[in-house]
Amino acid sequence: VKELLTPVPTHELVVSEVFGPTFQGEGPSLGRRCSFLRLGGCNLACRWCDTSYTWDWSGKNGVRYDPSTELRREDWGKIWQDLMACGTDMLVISGGEPLLQQQALLPLLETCRDVGWRVEIETAGTIEPSPMLTDLVDGFNVSPKLANSGNVLRARLNVHALEALQSSGKASWKFVAVEPIDLDEVAVVVEQFGLQPVYVMPEGIAADVITERARALAEPVLRRGWNLTTRLQVLLYGNRRGV
Ligand code: SF4
Repeated sequence: VKELLTPVPTHELVVSEVFGPTFQGEGPSLGRRCSFLRLGGCNLACRWCDTSYTWDWSGKNGVRYDPSTELRREDWGKIWQDLMACGTDMLVISGGEPLLQQQALLPLLETCRDVGWRVEIETAGTIEPSPMLTDLVDGFNVSPKLANSGNVLRARLNVHALEALQSSGKASWKFVAVEPIDLDEVAVVVEQFGLQPVYVMPEGIAADVITERARALAEPVLRRGWNLTTRLQVLLYGNRRGV
């Protein structure tokens, strides 16, 4: 297990799952046909995380997952074969926190660029992307975590990383909100770092919860001049893995 979680050579990635075709379920590309690469490991520990199986080896969120069954080290060439079999032209890299493995992602992303695939990376925005990675990515879907995530401030907000992502010109900002009062905290972060475009997404892993919270958030989000995103994968499939 220790070996599985140590830094990997540049041709290998620590993988949770590869799946597709499916839809991008959140943010500015919501509804686009794509494939997903979900990587293992995270530097945060959100109390409402819906992918705890990629990082929670201590049972902090209620279930103690086993990395030796949840994760695998895989050569990027094998991952590319699996992605091509999905039959899409867009890759979404999620996690966990994908930027923990940004160096090892480069060969895969170069291949995506060579064949004209669109690439989006989902990140919590706590790790600065390298110029090489930024060059190969079409969009960063950055989701800075609020106090409702349960992470301490210094862990969830990294000034340098937020500034680098905003200045890349490739970031959109997706804030997970439970209720309208959360938007006050979003406004502070948005204003401090000049973030745009801003999306607010209701927290939840059940369709009725997502719908109810989206309805409560809709008007306040409009009034602030922001965008609203739902979680299409939850509305379609519930809290299932690999869809
Ligand atoms: S940053 Fe994402 S993957 Fe990591 S704990 Fe938070 S929600 Fe889960």
